[in-house]
Amino acid sequence: MKKILFTLVLYLTFVNLHAIEFKGKFYQGNLILGKVTKGYFVKVDNKKLKLTRDGYFVFGLSKDRTNDVIVEISNNKETIKLIKKVFKKKYNIQKIDGLAKKHVTPPKEVYDRIKNDNKLIAKARSIESNLDFFTKKFIYPVENSIITGVYGSQRILNGIPKSPHYGLDFAGAEGTNVVAMQDGVVTLSEPNLYYTGGTIIFDHGHGISTLYMHMKEIYVKKNQKIKKGDVVGTLGKSGRATGPHLDIRLNIFNLKLDPASILGN
Ligand SMILES: [Zn+2]
Repeated sequence: MKKILFTLVLYLTFVNLHAIEFKGKFYQGNLILGKVTKGYFVKVDNKKLKLTRDGYFVFGLSKDRTNDVIVEISNNKETIKLIKKVFKKKYNIQKIDGLAKKHVTPPKEVYDRIKNDNKLIAKARSIESNLDFFTKKFIYPVENSIITGVYGSQRILNGIPKSPHYGLDFAGAEGTNVVAMQDGVVTLSEPNLYYTGGTIIFDHGHGISTLYMHMKEIYVKKNQKIKKGDVVGTLGKSGRATGPHLDIRLNIFNLKLDPASILGN
């Protein structure tokens, strides 16, 4: 009996350790990178995921997700099902009252502009390329800066709950160089969007994109290939920004993820 049990444990350990591995913790808002052995395919929440040549796959956990993640890997011999718990993240809520109405709700005459900006951003984020850059380590976009805003925090302005802040804010001196966090292709380069000002979106593959906003200057063009560490522009306060800072976003398609999850936090 002992021997059977030992063999069983060994077998399970072998299967789990060798057929699939995850990089990234299962916290709300996190990007999860996984890898499977050749020959397996992967389903997450019953949806088949695209694999890179090396067997990497990627998915994200929404900001408020509480239900378990069902991961299934199969080859022509077996199917292994894993159930992963999602850990909660604590988000802060900030209430500000007594603000002038125009600072809480945008004026009517800019509605069309905002709608058009959102369309451009959504289009860039919907790109599904075969690039596999997302499997490599990401780097910080600015040196000598302080993080002044985090993912998931929510502001309630004059009693109206605004949408949560999905970015990671780096405050720094205006004109500071901003670099690409990862190899990628520029899918949007706009000097002046209403909310986000100078905006860049990079595609890193399989629906993973990063976005930079409030840029002062932008040095890259749409469709340009860039390398991790390349200077892509400078930090600014364009768009609706209260002061000079870089706000970065991380998405898998339209799902907004926590940028800190790719920076080792
Ligand atoms: Zn921000």
